[in-house]
Amino acid sequence: MCNRFEGWQRIARDMTVLIAGAGIAGLSLGLSLHQIGVPFRIFEAVREIKPLGVGINLQPHATRELIEMGLEGGLDKVGLRTEEVAYFSRHGKLIWSEPRGLGAGYQWPQFSIHRGGLQMLLLETLIARCGADVVQMGQAVTGWDKTAEGVSVHLEDRKTGHAHGTVEGDLLVAADGINSTLRAGLYPDEGPAHWGGTMMWRGVTKGPKFLTGRSMAMAGVKNCKFVIYPIGDTEEGGSLLNWIADLTMPEDYDWRKQDWNRPGQLEDFLPAFEDWAFDWLDVPQIIRAAEAIYEFPMVDRNPLPQWSFGPMTLLGDAAHAMYPIGSNGASQGILDARILAREIRAYRATPEALLAYEDARRKTVNALVLRNRGDGPDKVLDIVEQRAPDGFEDIEAVMPLAEREDLAAGYKKVAGMDIAALNARGPILET
Ligand SMILES: Cc1cc2nc3c(=O)[nH]c(=O)nc-3n(C[C@H](O)[C@H](O)[C@H](O)COP(=O)(O)OP(=O)(O)OC[C@H]3O[C@@H](n4cnc5c(N)ncnc54)[C@H](O)[C@@H]3O)c2cc1C
Repeated sequence: MCNRFEGWQRIARDMTVLIAGAGIAGLSLGLSLHQIGVPFRIFEAVREIKPLGVGINLQPHATRELIEMGLEGGLDKVGLRTEEVAYFSRHGKLIWSEPRGLGAGYQWPQFSIHRGGLQMLLLETLIARCGADVVQMGQAVTGWDKTAEGVSVHLEDRKTGHAHGTVEGDLLVAADGINSTLRAGLYPDEGPAHWGGTMMWRGVTKGPKFLTGRSMAMAGVKNCKFVIYPIGDTEEGGSLLNWIADLTMPEDYDWRKQDWNRPGQLEDFLPAFEDWAFDWLDVPQIIRAAEAIYEFPMVDRNPLPQWSFGPMTLLGDAAHAMYPIGSNGASQGILDARILAREIRAYRATPEALLAYEDARRKTVNALVLRNRGDGPDKVLDIVEQRAPDGFEDIEAVMPLAEREDLAAGYKKVAGMDIAALNARGPILET
């Protein structure tokens, strides 16, 4: 248990927060609780955390929090500072571009980063600060009971099916991801994640630098889209390019194999992008040169009416898994962690803290889940395609600048990353 108390936070010494899941959200909560001196333990289902997944983007509202956890140097080692986001039609013509991170006027950068690299950075930092036993591996949380003092949490080794007994704490935070066992316990009729019809083929390719060399580009339209951004530099002077090809599939498509490591087949999606050789990027060449390709359904979860149940609450994807559109999934989990830590400091490790956290987060994040279902900021692509299906010469005639600006700014507001508002507000967690 991490209980090295620092400074004024000594008052917190009698409370223990039990966290299910050492993903991005659970580890961020651990680091935040450590900052304010609240004892916690994390229980992780897998026996060993491996750097799985491909690229994700961390928005300035989340990097601000990671920087305030002391991780700026680590982020620069593991990820790249994103400088631009650009949208293109399926003919490769520019629709909209905007600077990102510091260049956009934020006081904090945006990072493009390997998801597994970020998870390892959080894990290693936490272990360095709190000791190795703070994260208990191979201990899946299977359920919990409310007790007079707080919670009693049931643990199991998923590999063997052996029960590992119970552990007592003041609070239980379910950060166990999109297929959360603990959420399923609260909402037994919910079933599998919601699939809207899109499959994603994802890969990483060593390729040339494109656009600014630090750009994230989206091309196409909702039912056929290509997303690409660098997550590292190569020795040859090029980029390690993370890409995602989205295709809407027939309703009877077998999407349920929701496995981050399911290999994808070129023939299932490459034909749709075969003629996307633009002057700024050769899409089919990038796809063909990938070291490995993974297939994954674009899934989310329906917004919930309640996250907190007495001494237990949901956090990160367990609370609000969203489509990876607008690059906010991991960022919102990090914000959850910071706000929950703030409320635990204010209300101690009590159900009141969990209610205050839910009050601050649930409606806002639910709105973002729905916004992403409507294609989030990528909607600019759909509007242009609808108005000019055969392409355009002058984007201004199809979608005036003010309309494009409004769409981009509107999403930032919903996601909590409005530039002026973020720069103006104080830290979530004063340390
Ligand atoms: C292996 C993996 C690969 C991913 N790859 C990508 C990617 O390439 N791109 C992308 O956009 N998103 C990816 N994601 C999802 C992304 O990490 C999340 O959307 C986001 O970071 C929110 O983080 P989270 O901590 O809520 O969930 P997650 O990062 O999913 O973490 C949940 C953690 O809980 C653990 N867990 C699950 N059940 C239990 C249980 N019952 N008891 C204890 N622990 C449990 C899991 O092993 C996992 O470590 C991936 C997630 C995982 C687990």
